[in-house]
Amino acid sequence: MCTTSEKFRCKGTYISIISQISINVNRGGRGIIQDMISGLVAIAMQTFVLGTSMDVTAVADGVAKPTANASIQGTSERTITYTISSKGVITGNIEEFRKIVAETLADNKGWKRAGVKFVEVASGGSMWMVLAAGNEVGAFNGCSATLSCVVYPYVLINDARWMSGSDSYNALGLSLSNYRQMVINHEVGHYLGHNHITTCETGTGLAPVMLQQSTGLLGCLPNPWPLPGELWYTR
Ligand SMILES: [Zn+2]
Repeated sequence: MCTTSEKFRCKGTYISIISQISINVNRGGRGIIQDMISGLVAIAMQTFVLGTSMDVTAVADGVAKPTANASIQGTSERTITYTISSKGVITGNIEEFRKIVAETLADNKGWKRAGVKFVEVASGGSMWMVLAAGNEVGAFNGCSATLSCVVYPYVLINDARWMSGSDSYNALGLSLSNYRQMVINHEVGHYLGHNHITTCETGTGLAPVMLQQSTGLLGCLPNPWPLPGELWYTR
């Protein structure tokens, strides 16, 4: 069903706007500030991992609720096969992309906690993880050349973003690794059936992974991983 505020779920097509137009990278301000922020994130993440409930039905953080037919962590488990490929002229290293995607999807802080297991296959996978040149992303109906995008079965990670991160993460001195984990989890979240979350009322202070963190954190702490209330899927 389409909504006016979210044009992300129409006729099975999920469109993600996860990055800003500008790809200027401000790498300044690192050092102490970066360390402080990294420390805050680490502490927050630790609290999040250790101190929150897995029970999605008791969501207290204001993030997305599962839909009626959603499968919930702990109640079922499914395997999603995926392929790795590139599209167009990219500057990113495809083997590095493959490695980071695999590590992120297998991470115990990620969608694995929702009961989803991802297995890379050489061909025939149900999810196609693609590191794509901007013009190739923009060639998909409803996608922008400057953004990442999900159009089933494609999860298109914009190569320019992959290489430069987002302004919001860069401004905080966060690493490219943090950004890459976030963009993978965010886009795969769309693949799993998630729309955007537009508020930052999570209780923990951590941003939902389905918040468009690339374009702004709305006062949240950056967070590359799905929150407990996001641990569901509909496909
Ligand atoms: Zn998105």
